Amino acid sequence: MKKKSDEEWRRELGAERYHILREKGTEPAFTGRYVDEKTPGVYRCAACGMELFSSDTKYDSGSGWPSFYEPIDRDRIATAEDRSHGMRRVEVLCANCESHLGHVFTDGPRPTGLRYCVNSASLELDPSTDDTER
Ligand code: FE
Repeated sequence: MKKKSDEEWRRELGAERYHILREKGTEPAFTGRYVDEKTPGVYRCAACGMELFSSDTKYDSGSGWPSFYEPIDRDRIATAEDRSHGMRRVEVLCANCESHLGHVFTDGPRPTGLRYCVNSASLELDPSTDDTER
C-alpha cells in the first residue's frame, strides 16, 4: 500500500479521526457511535477500509468502547507495546495502513479470552445485506 503523508491523512480523515488513527488518540468512554451498536455486519478500518472485525465477535464489555473477542483474521491486526500514561498495554493497529485502533487486553470472554478494545472513530460499520445471516 502506498504510504500517505500526514497531510493527506489529515485531509481525508478529518480532525477527530486523524487524531485517533494517526496520533494514537482515544475517544472518551461511552461517547463513540458503536459502543452499543448491534447491527450485523463487518467493521472496517476507518482509514483504509480493511475488514477487521465481525459483529459476530462484538460483545458488551462495559468498558465504554466497542469490544471484540477476536479479529476477522489475526494477520490483519498489528500489535505494539505501549508504555504511555504510566501503563504497560498492548496497542492494536491496522496491519494494512498502521493506523491506531485501540488496545488488546487479556480479560475477554471465551473462546479467546481477549478483549480488543477499539475506538469507534477507528471503525466504519459495513452493515450486512445478506438476510440469511440475521
Ligand atoms: Fe487500515
